[in-house]
Amino acid sequence: GITEAKEELQEIVEFLKTPEKYSRLGGRIPRGVLLQGAPGTGKTLLAKAIAGEASVAFFSIGGSDFVEIFAGVGASRVRELFAEAKKSTPCLIFIDEIDAIGGRRSGGQSGGSSDEREQTLNALLVEMDGFDTEDTVIMIAATNRPDILDPALLRPGRFDRRITLSLPDVKGRLKILEVHAQKIVTVPAMDLAAIARSIPGFSGAEIANLVNEAALNAARHNKEAVDMADFEEAKDKIVMGLERRSIVVSEQDRRLTAYHEAGHAIVGLMLEETDPLHKITIIPRGRAMGLTQQVPLDDRLTYSRDYLLNRIAILMGGRAAEALVFNRLTTGASNDILQATDIAARLVGEWGMSVELGPVAYRHSGEGFLGDSGQQRPHSEMTARRIDEEIRKLVGDCYDQAADLLKKHNRFLHKFAEALLLNETMDAE
Ligand code: ZN
Repeated sequence: GITEAKEELQEIVEFLKTPEKYSRLGGRIPRGVLLQGAPGTGKTLLAKAIAGEASVAFFSIGGSDFVEIFAGVGASRVRELFAEAKKSTPCLIFIDEIDAIGGRRSGGQSGGSSDEREQTLNALLVEMDGFDTEDTVIMIAATNRPDILDPALLRPGRFDRRITLSLPDVKGRLKILEVHAQKIVTVPAMDLAAIARSIPGFSGAEIANLVNEAALNAARHNKEAVDMADFEEAKDKIVMGLERRSIVVSEQDRRLTAYHEAGHAIVGLMLEETDPLHKITIIPRGRAMGLTQQVPLDDRLTYSRDYLLNRIAILMGGRAAEALVFNRLTTGASNDILQATDIAARLVGEWGMSVELGPVAYRHSGEGFLGDSGQQRPHSEMTARRIDEEIRKLVGDCYDQAADLLKKHNRFLHKFAEALLLNETMDAE
């Protein structure tokens, strides 16, 4: 499910198999490859697969193994590992969680374990530089925090190739699901594609966990085979925490939640450019009293302004329904408000979609999992006030739009909420 990374790594296999082919014209075979990606995206599996594919020896060590309480142990482990590896070239050395030793060096002001870490890192750098050019040794390091690595590790001749493993897209998720589903007994009518669609953002490891939870769930209910309902339950459990069927929800809270969720759903149904509705529930899970789930048909890479504004309107639908029917404000919408404000702020500040403020980036964010946090561009207080005003206006307009839609479809809203109170959970159909 990670086609691009696979192509790049295929070349590493070729380097290990036929180094002569590449060094023939004087080129230097890359020594180090840094695999960067969120936890569970298969970094370790890929490193093993490369060694297996190239049929070379595989040496591995985890970042946390290096760091010991006793001074000097980490550094000596590094030297031992490289001495071993040099005896059996061609080979592949895999260092998992390299950020555990490879974080930026402090410059000596702190003591204790960080001194130990620096010694280990220095030993690693010395060993990496100490290979003969004829040695066919490739080092692969894995990290989910490339942003904190010591720049010395990333210099040419060290980990100078970087390969990013992203979370699998819908096709990738389906393939990973198929692999894991083979290991369990399922009913014949399994729609794995539908499951794959409904779990955007799941890593490979989380998909493996999902399949396992589904199997345990079926076993718990003494079923002969795992079915779609087991997957649904396992998914909800993972995504939202366990169902809290046992907590006491007052009838008033149930009604409020039903109207709140119906509000989200109806606004979503009435707007054109949105993700299709997937599931709606008023069973409390984790910290949420209810949930309206929309599932995109494809993984989106870009979002249009209309889509984003509709998204805000849908988020406002919950609060708008509460206000319309009960004429009061509750805290139930706090997360919706947070999300809506965030989208509006990025729309104005990052994506240059505000008519008023134009295509200018007033702030920019890092690359998600790479961990850079958003940065503020310096601007005047007056600009800051205009940005705030624009954000408030966008969210306010979307709220009004949601409220108008709910007023217009008032009867539908009541029917929808009644149906939810009766069924608790409903799918899109
Ligand atoms: Zn809500």
